[in-house]
Amino acid sequence: MLIKPKIRGFICTNAHPVGCSANVQQQIDYVKAQGALSDGPKNVLVLGSSTGYGLASRIVSAFGYGASTLGVCFEKPPSERKTGTAGWYNTAGFHAKAKEAGLYAKTLNGDAFSNELKAQVIETLKADMGKVDLVIYSLASPRRTDPETGEVYKSTLKPIGQSYKTKTYDTDKDQIHEIALEPASEDDIAQTIKVMGGEDWELWLDALDKADLLADGCKTTAYTYVGKELTWPIYGQATIGKAKEDLDRAAAAIVHDKANKNVQAYVSSLKALVTQASSAIPVMPLYISLIYKVMKEEGTHQGCIEQIVDLFTDKLTKTQPEVDGLGRLYMNDKETNNATQAKIKALWDQVTQENFHELSDYAGYHHEFLKLFGFDVSGVDYDVELEPLADW
Ligand code: NAD
Repeated sequence: MLIKPKIRGFICTNAHPVGCSANVQQQIDYVKAQGALSDGPKNVLVLGSSTGYGLASRIVSAFGYGASTLGVCFEKPPSERKTGTAGWYNTAGFHAKAKEAGLYAKTLNGDAFSNELKAQVIETLKADMGKVDLVIYSLASPRRTDPETGEVYKSTLKPIGQSYKTKTYDTDKDQIHEIALEPASEDDIAQTIKVMGGEDWELWLDALDKADLLADGCKTTAYTYVGKELTWPIYGQATIGKAKEDLDRAAAAIVHDKANKNVQAYVSSLKALVTQASSAIPVMPLYISLIYKVMKEEGTHQGCIEQIVDLFTDKLTKTQPEVDGLGRLYMNDKETNNATQAKIKALWDQVTQENFHELSDYAGYHHEFLKLFGFDVSGVDYDVELEPLADW
């Protein structure tokens, strides 16, 4: 079949196998171009390994440090008539390249929040890899089923305390419009914390510890976005921000509870960029297309792989990494410093439907959005008929 993008709202409902694999290769090439990285992890578990920051973390672990990696993701396989999700094809591409390079890689596709998937991971680690020295927690999910009660919790993207009116960009219609977001209820906040907070991260570390699969001095990190005034009403000080604050609590609890193994748990604060998760957040597509413009002009623009290489080499693999006031590995200063934010704010105040393409890096945003699904990737011929089937 010929595979062309089918965009619906903030998502593309299909994906291109060759384009996804080429994206993975580009990230591998970037990592290899950094030269051999030393003193890093050797046995890595990546939760949320198929796209975005989790995929980049897996690529840096494997192709930077030569680590064996076990990935966990939640992706749809292809059928003969329908493509799989981008994360499926990214994983197939990653496996093929890891195999060529002689690197151990296995991926379990299923619900990371469930007890069953945790048991499968433990079985696989015991059989193939042994103790892990790094656990990356990079899940982004709209819902979570509590493994003990079966109750389903949903995360929401709502302001707290008062309603919030702002501009947003509609990727599908290429339009800027106003949105009014109603404030969250106490229940919305509690449910979002259940889904995107630290409880499941702690359950993972508990399960690994119980199975004696944590190496002494094992590191673990969960990813957060902190942002600044422009995004605080919908992110930092909103329902998702409350869930992210819970990661700080969980990091401290993990360090305390796993002191016998000297586990070091960090929340890493990363920059905003185009991923499937961020495209779904109102405000973010517009904000990101403006920061791309400003940060590219400043020469500080980075994608997932560049951020994660810096996170690993500058912070995560250091014995006593520099942390911010809340104990986080802070990677986001090039976006959130006052001078850069002032430029973004000036653009934000001026931007309208008419001048959007001129004031923002709309083209860059759109290109990155298509790339997430394997489209608009250089060197890929989209006029070639393809089999959608792929496996790993
Ligand atoms: P993403 O949507 O690209 O990746 C999410 C991953 O989670 C995928 O691998 C997906 O398969 C997996 N997943 C989702 N639900 C799952 C489930 N139930 N079981 C197993 N796997 C599941 O997201 P991303 O943007 O890379 O986000 C990863 C983390 O980074 C999130 O915590 C996010 O808040 C954080 N972060 C993102 C940004 C950004 O701008 N994108 C910035 C800073 C921090």
